[in-house]
Parts: sequence; C-alpha cells; structure tokens
Amino acid sequence: MIHFFNTLSGRREPFSPLEPGHVKLYTCGPTVYDRQHIGNFRAYVFEDLLKRFLRFQGFGVTHVMNITDVDDKTIRGARDRGLSLEAFTADYIKEFFADLETLRITPADHYPRATGHIPDMVRIIQGLLAKGYAYRKDGSVYFSIARFPGYGKLSKIDATELRATERVESDEYDKENARDFALWKAPKEGEPYWESDIGPGRPGWHIECSAMSAKYLGPTFDIHCGGVDNIFPHHENEIAQSEAYWDRPFVKYWLHCHHLIVDGEKMAKSRGNFYTLRDLIEKQKADPMAVRYLLLSTHYRKVLNFSFEALEQDQAALRRIQDFLYEVDNRAFPPGRRPEVPAILDEAKAKFAEGLADDLNISLALTALFELIKRINVLIKDDQLRADDARETASLIRRLDEVLAVLPPKREVKIPDELMKKIEAREQARKDRNFKLADALRRELAESGLVLEDTKDGVRWKILK
Ligand SMILES: [Zn+2]
Repeated sequence: MIHFFNTLSGRREPFSPLEPGHVKLYTCGPTVYDRQHIGNFRAYVFEDLLKRFLRFQGFGVTHVMNITDVDDKTIRGARDRGLSLEAFTADYIKEFFADLETLRITPADHYPRATGHIPDMVRIIQGLLAKGYAYRKDGSVYFSIARFPGYGKLSKIDATELRATERVESDEYDKENARDFALWKAPKEGEPYWESDIGPGRPGWHIECSAMSAKYLGPTFDIHCGGVDNIFPHHENEIAQSEAYWDRPFVKYWLHCHHLIVDGEKMAKSRGNFYTLRDLIEKQKADPMAVRYLLLSTHYRKVLNFSFEALEQDQAALRRIQDFLYEVDNRAFPPGRRPEVPAILDEAKAKFAEGLADDLNISLALTALFELIKRINVLIKDDQLRADDARETASLIRRLDEVLAVLPPKREVKIPDELMKKIEAREQARKDRNFKLADALRRELAESGLVLEDTKDGVRWKILK
C-alpha cells in the first residue's frame, strides 16, 4: 500500500486513485520569464520521481504540466526587452524542455500554455460571475473569497477575519495579504490583452491552472503537486475557483516539496548563490546525473541544502552504483548461479519499493540499493558470484533505475578473446605474486584501451573509448 502526506488533510494517507490503476496528475509548470533555477528543478525532479514510482508500481499516469506564458513577470520581461510576449517566452520555453531532457525528466502528456487557453478561462470566469462568486471592478473581475466557505482549507489560513472589501491585483502575495484576487485583469497601457465576452483584458495567474487541469484531466483528479511556495495563494485560489465553478472536489491528494537552499542560505541573485541548471553544467562542469541524484536524494518534504561539497559526495555515490553496474554487466563470471542470490535480489527490490511507498522515502530506497551492492560485492570478492547472478543483478539495478533514472543506458561491450585471456593471465600472475608479469600485462591491456583498477572490492576494468 502506498502512502502520501496530503497537505489538504495534514496527514499521511493511503493512496488510491479515483479510477483504479490510473493516476491523473497535475503539476504547476514554469513561468517562462527567465531560466529555471535549481530550486525549480528540485520540484520537477520530485514530481518525476513520483510519476516514475507510480509507473513502477503498475499505475498508468496521465500527467499535465502548464506553461505560464502570460502573467505579471512575463509581461514585465517582454516590455523590458522590447519584445512581444511570444518572442520573449519562446526561448525560455525551448530551454526549459532542453533542461528537462538533460535531467532525464519524463515528458508530461500535455504541456498546455496559458495563452492557448484564454477562452477556457473566460468560460469559467463567466460561470463564477453568474454564480455570484466573482464580481467586476474597474474592468477587472475578482473572486470573492468570502463567498467560498472552504477558502483556507489547504493553507490553513483563517479567512473569516479577512476584510472582503479589499482586493489584490498582483498574482503573488503572502498569507497576511489574503484578499479577493484577480481572475481577469483590465487592459493596461502597453500590456497585451485579449478581447472576450467579459471584456478586454488578460487572465490572472491562478485561473489558468483551474482551466487547464480540468480541460485535460477533468474537474476532479488525483494528485496536484508544486512547491510549498505554491500552497498560498496559488493552490488555495485554484481550489476556490474550481470547486466554486464545478461544485465538486477539485483534487484528492496535494503533494508539496520543500525549498532548496544553498549553503544554508536562501538562494538569491543578490547573494551570488543563485544557480540555474546551466550554471552548474556549463560553468561548474557538473555531471547532470549527479545533479539529478542530488535533487532526488533528499526527501521531498525536507529542505534541501545544496552545496558543491554535497554535489561531490553525490557524484561519488553515483559512481559507486555506475561502477558496480559496469562490473556485473561486463566482468566474466563463471557460469551458473548461487542459491542465495535470488533472495538477496528480492529483498532489495521489496525494500526499495517499500521505502518509496512510504511517502517517497528516498533514503530507505537508496539504502536498499547500496545494501544490495554491498552484499553482491562480498560474493564477487570471494569469487562466489556466477554469470546468471550477475546478469540478474544488473537487470534488477536497471529496473530500479527506471525510477531513479541516474544510470547510463546499457552499452553492449564485447571484449575480444585475446584481451580476455590477458585479463585472466594477469589475475593468475597476481595470485602467483608474479607482480612483474602482472604489471606488464596491465600495461599491454592499457595500450589496447582497457584499464584495470585494483579496488578493495577486487579488480575492476574499464574500457576507454
Ligand atoms: Zn498552477
């Protein structure tokens, strides 16, 4: 049984989707006014881990992620650069998709853009006006939070004390400023606007997620994710809009991931500790898979403290898994199998899945993986592992990596027989303590592009391209 911590109930709950075997997932996507920073990618990697794990457990998943290509920030950015909104956002959208690929984040089924769904938003706003949840003021339309009794149920703010006569125009504000918020904003000098049945203007940020989630997933769906920053006001407002309009529950499970900080401090351009994914990969030469490993290896509900030291440690941890996989894939083991290996593999797989089923407890899952590596390494060291065991071990690691997605795809390596014979001859020379011969063979192998490393777990070899 899978359990998730649901922000809505404030509790860990057993997970069961509305439609058996199929999960409908909505995750808030990027606002394309700048390159995405590593804090944003923390959320996207967490959502990818969630999705991959659900698939690993046999669920089908339909995933929708919106692209916010019209809001206060994109309009400001386009104006500052003297570009149309479309031209301004196009490059950031392209970069966003490239970055997702770099981090091996599984693509969503739909990436609806706000500017492509204005009529869907207008229809909901009209409905909210008709039902009395919304009102007009100076050409804009606002949602009346006093009219929606459930307001505050996600973020746990007490909306009864709020002064309903006050309104907030901007898309982002804090809990202290909870007010009636804009669904539709009257045109302003120099800003893009759309003609519509509710008058000219542009949508507020919150309405786009209510409109686009319903369009692709229906008015009620299983899981909605985002960062903790989204709980208020964004997700609180999504609930108000959607439930007021459709008269039914909006989302069953709300999962939120915590902040990413850098060296113990909030990430900020002014502090010089602000990193986009490209900063890490292009300027700092970080391995994208180590970045992914770092982003997913802290439990999603804990603050993730990014540092270059942590990245180095994660790189080393990742290399341990990669080297191990390389060895069980490529080293020649005697034929046959050992009776104790299937139980080791089954236990590792079960513990890995149990860990993730416990509100995505990644630490338990990774511990299961490293425990597996340790136990199999002991067998290798004692010359106990057999060819079938090695093949099944490699296949399990690859199966677990369908969830983690940090390992390189399998490369078929065929070592020529003459090199294989030299490897065996060198092993024999070492056993005979004929180190001169062993070193000579090692040099010959190196000249052929095969590097041998003597580690505490035995000899490993690598092929240089
Ligand atoms: Zn959203």
